[in-house]
Amino acid sequence: MPGLLGELVDSLHRGLQLRCPCCGYGQLFATRFRTHDRCSVCDERFEREPGQWFGAVYVNLCLTLLLVAGGYLLTRTFTPLTPVQQLWIWIPLAVIGPLLLHRSSTGLWTSLVFIGEGLYLRWPRR
Ligand SMILES: [Zn+2]
Repeated sequence: MPGLLGELVDSLHRGLQLRCPCCGYGQLFATRFRTHDRCSVCDERFEREPGQWFGAVYVNLCLTLLLVAGGYLLTRTFTPLTPVQQLWIWIPLAVIGPLLLHRSSTGLWTSLVFIGEGLYLRWPRR
């Protein structure tokens, strides 16, 4: 996918793969929950200002809502489960969803920040 749209899609895809949104090679996470400060390959800063990570919370909430609401609607439509049985499935998932989606949310948010601040810069070629 050539052009600016291709670069944007590539950057989001790298974030979801938990890699540097700039070069696509450096790992985003140092541990399960902590990110590296900079990319080990291209030296891009992952957190450009203090508190930037808070945006990942909103991304996490949106992804969890999509998971739970979408899952509820799908099981309601295609299975004979009662509403009480549905609650036993989707309430625990709503509770642990943010933990399960933490890394993906952080990677996606890091990519969005990179796109937002990198639109006017010439991105490095791979
Ligand atoms: Zn990099």
